Amino acid sequence: MTDKLSKRTKAVHAGTRRSQYGELSEAIFLTQGFAYDSAEQAEARFIKAGDDEFIYARYGNPTVRMFEERIAALEGTEDAFATASGMAAVSGTLTSMLRAGDHVVSSRALFGSCIYVLEEVLGRYGVEVTFVDGTDLDQWRAAVRPGTKAVFFESVSNPTLEMIDIAAVAEIAHAQGALVIVDNVFATPVFSDAVAQGADVVVYSATKHIDGQGRVLGGVILGTREFIRKTVEPYMKHTGGSMSPFSAWVLLKGLETMSLRVNAQAATAQKLAEALEGHAALERVIYPGLAAHPQHELCRRQMGQGGTVIAFDIKGGQAAAFAFLNALEVVLISNNLGDAKSIITHPATTTHQRLPEDQKVTLGITPGLVRMSVGIEDTDDLIADVLQALAKVPA
Ligand SMILES: *Cc1c(COP(=O)(O)O)cnc(C)c1O
Repeated sequence: MTDKLSKRTKAVHAGTRRSQYGELSEAIFLTQGFAYDSAEQAEARFIKAGDDEFIYARYGNPTVRMFEERIAALEGTEDAFATASGMAAVSGTLTSMLRAGDHVVSSRALFGSCIYVLEEVLGRYGVEVTFVDGTDLDQWRAAVRPGTKAVFFESVSNPTLEMIDIAAVAEIAHAQGALVIVDNVFATPVFSDAVAQGADVVVYSATKHIDGQGRVLGGVILGTREFIRKTVEPYMKHTGGSMSPFSAWVLLKGLETMSLRVNAQAATAQKLAEALEGHAALERVIYPGLAAHPQHELCRRQMGQGGTVIAFDIKGGQAAAFAFLNALEVVLISNNLGDAKSIITHPATTTHQRLPEDQKVTLGITPGLVRMSVGIEDTDDLIADVLQALAKVPA
């Protein structure tokens, strides 16, 4: 496929491999192994497998390969490695490239499991991690030093939707030779231009918008062919974090409709955020698509618009937040995001429950804070549901 096509077209066609039957929809090769015509062929394939030759599904599979090629075409990277979950992608990226004695700088505002990997796991193997406030470029400048191997951050943080300037952090990191690894879940491949902005490696939890219909776990690591095939692949294929062909098939079908879903979700999120701004029951509304968001300009430059997730802080703390959640009729209480169904989470008592109180305060995870992932339902129905539930919160 030519590179000139838009993402929407690539998301439908890129990477498709058709069997001798010419099936229209992507085939699911639900097989872990492959039979060889001869012992000589098996030997040759173990020496070097060609583009259309597979050995074992932990190493690669035609359906998984379709997914990898499609998403690499979308993201504009040379290659991709598909993983069993988003966390397999995050941990696999870091552990495949780092060694004892290496230094990493990471933003502090991270998904709970990312904090575990960076704080607990890397330290255990002698990797030094310096945490910074990712929105403060001076902190990045002070922390990145000659020999720093990598910087890691979520381009939009969970759950408080702080934006990190990919281009500015990449300039600081590249000046010292550090690799820029971006966990880009909230931007989604639809709004991402991370590679053009300076990211070297882009990581997604495919569980989120790529599936977008709450079915399977998955993840992907995107980067140069050299990085993916020489650094990531040997580590992943031998340590076991590869994606299953069934999940790859579900996610390929997810990629087909992703742009329609994500654009509709983001348009509704913008309208909902505008409807909630200044609401008497709310302390604050956090959405990078609102002009009042402190990083609104960066959001427009980096993603074009505000994305599919809104956070808002309800006056009255946890009791008010719980009353609000329990009064919702359409929006579901769950902790996933990026789904076709609208989902709401109370981070302080669920996804970020384990954080010490002082860290919750630093990260802005207040008792009244809720995070809403906007789905593809009718915009007016969603706004009405949120407003009626807010009206039921005792003043
Ligand atoms: C969900 C998520 C992950 C982990 O993905 P899984 O598929 O659940 O393993 C990592 N980073 C971010 C920002 C996420 O939202």
